[in-house]
Amino acid sequence: MSEQNVKKHSFQAEVAQLLHLVTHSLYSNPEIFLRELISNASDACDKLRFEGINHAEYYENDPNLHIRVILDQDNKTLTISDNGIGLSQQEAIDNLGTIAKSGTKDFMSKLTGDQKSDAQLIGQFGVGFYSGFIVADKITVESRRAGLDASEGVRWISGGTGEFEVEQISKASRGTDIILHLRDDALDYLDAYKVKQIINKYSDHISLPIEMQKEIWQEEDAAEGEEPKAGQYVKTDEWEAINSASALWTRSKSEITDEQYIEFYKNLTHDFDAPLAWAHNRVEGSTEYTQLLYIPSKAPGNIFTREAKAGIKLYVKRVFIMDDADSLIPNYLRFVQGVVDSADLPLNVSRELLQESRDVKTIREGNARRVLNLLDGLAKSEAVQEQDKYKAFYAEFGAVLKEGLGEDFGNRERILKLLRFASSVNDDVSTSLADYKARIKEGQKAIYYVTADSLSAAKNSPQLELFKKKGIEVLLMSERVDEWAMEFVTEFDGLPMQNVAKGAVDLGDLQDAEEKKALEAAAEQFKPVVDKLADSLKGKTKEVRVTTRLVDSPACLVTGDGELSPQLIRMLKQAGQPVPESKPILEINPEHPLVKKLDGAAHFDDLANVIFDQALIAEGGLPEDPASYLKRINSLLLKS
Ligand code: ADP
Ligand code: MG
Repeated sequence: MSEQNVKKHSFQAEVAQLLHLVTHSLYSNPEIFLRELISNASDACDKLRFEGINHAEYYENDPNLHIRVILDQDNKTLTISDNGIGLSQQEAIDNLGTIAKSGTKDFMSKLTGDQKSDAQLIGQFGVGFYSGFIVADKITVESRRAGLDASEGVRWISGGTGEFEVEQISKASRGTDIILHLRDDALDYLDAYKVKQIINKYSDHISLPIEMQKEIWQEEDAAEGEEPKAGQYVKTDEWEAINSASALWTRSKSEITDEQYIEFYKNLTHDFDAPLAWAHNRVEGSTEYTQLLYIPSKAPGNIFTREAKAGIKLYVKRVFIMDDADSLIPNYLRFVQGVVDSADLPLNVSRELLQESRDVKTIREGNARRVLNLLDGLAKSEAVQEQDKYKAFYAEFGAVLKEGLGEDFGNRERILKLLRFASSVNDDVSTSLADYKARIKEGQKAIYYVTADSLSAAKNSPQLELFKKKGIEVLLMSERVDEWAMEFVTEFDGLPMQNVAKGAVDLGDLQDAEEKKALEAAAEQFKPVVDKLADSLKGKTKEVRVTTRLVDSPACLVTGDGELSPQLIRMLKQAGQPVPESKPILEINPEHPLVKKLDGAAHFDDLANVIFDQALIAEGGLPEDPASYLKRINSLLLKS
């Protein structure tokens, strides 16, 4: 090959940074390079199968896809060879010189610059192709893309520093050879026994055969009558598969160990932590498919952003079709990871087609049901370990699950049962609606809850005062999604759900006749004050009325039935959404000294506005005009 043909390129800056890290960090788990490179070879074969649907000629005369691992003791190289899709020269430059993979990008963004903690991180993420440099001081890639002429092969060489070289070569066989020139301290990867063990550990589930050269034990010829001499293993021309070579999800459950399920998950997701739980089923019926669904133990950082993607890979009859097939799982279960293999969908299915397909709808519903059942099983389990898993799940994903109340009407009951809340009698987020129902007071006819911007705001909300006094439990909700999600829930198990800040307080039988009479009397007595307040606060409130719901606070704001609460309005405004005009109701506490003082007060207008603004502050809002609020307070302070 003439020198002119060799072109030098520089790595993208991030790649150089990553490479530096790979080679300079003490790697805690060097053997994962094999998993990464085998996984790439397997991806390449998947791609060939996919493109081969429309281009049968890509198979040339070599239809049996496989991955081979070749150990060369003389040259100290370990080669991973596949007959998959291969790389064109440009693809080699692009794909091996830049970081495209989102997982690796994610990894890069977490780097701190601190060698020790970064080294730990690198062990947690798969860093893909570049992991080869953990054990090699030089990597040669020789490849030819399916469909290209034998003369249009490419050789890519790098020592894992700033640069790589590329030249055109001729390569008879389609696919890619990754040739690792092993470092002196990594020569144990030339040991066939060790390599087989690693492949079995990480890559057994790969659906293609991973082959190594068969070795036979050869004894040295001994002359007749002599003792046989020591022998050695000799490589033969025969190849043998060292993995089971069937996609994990196609095997029956009883043949798969927990370790294998976990290893498959880690490969699938690049997640370092084991999943919390999984469900694996072959579903038969109007549409046939296999589902292998995992619940991760940690939420990705972007779970609440638009970027969050469903982690379901779609296969059709074992052929990989697409990543992140979001039509296969409802949005509120987007944390679920796994594989769906359909027997019915066409191989050339597109994302658009998926959205309209009836089969896909059936699969999506089946997946949702299975995940909810899996969660229900954990939640209901008597085993402490399972309960802990449910707690861990809920802490990570509870808020996402709640979105289902608004999204999946068919499963609303199921979802409601899975929810856990903090309450006025128990701070832990552990009270289910069934627990609450079991504890209600005699005569109580509703499940009461309050929503606020934080747990402490919910806990100290003035709306709760009467409930506390009467010893009635109130659920405390403080997640952003609560206010919206609860709009969709009117009852649980025959009991209406009642937001304590909405509508007039009606405790039914929990309030005795005397209390009701007292309220009526107070309403009568305070009518002139109420009218005057309504006048002073005309632009701010819809109505002013006397309440029994308060004990310690002078006033509170409530929302009319069927209207948006102040929190929801704040949330919508923050999100830049149009908000319908709606004013709260001001309720005053006739027992409070400040309210009693109102009648005939000299600075009625200032007092009225201060009371209103304080009610707003108490439920987490801000006065519309904080400066004039302060001015009023100060002038009242001076006058007192
Ligand atoms: P990922 O596999 O997540 O895309 P990698 O760093 O492992 O990231 O690989 C980078 C890219 O290099 C792959 O996306 C692919 O385009 C290319 N590549 C790596 N190995 C092979 C291979 N054996 N055959 C074809 N392309 C490959
Ligand atoms: Mg990879």
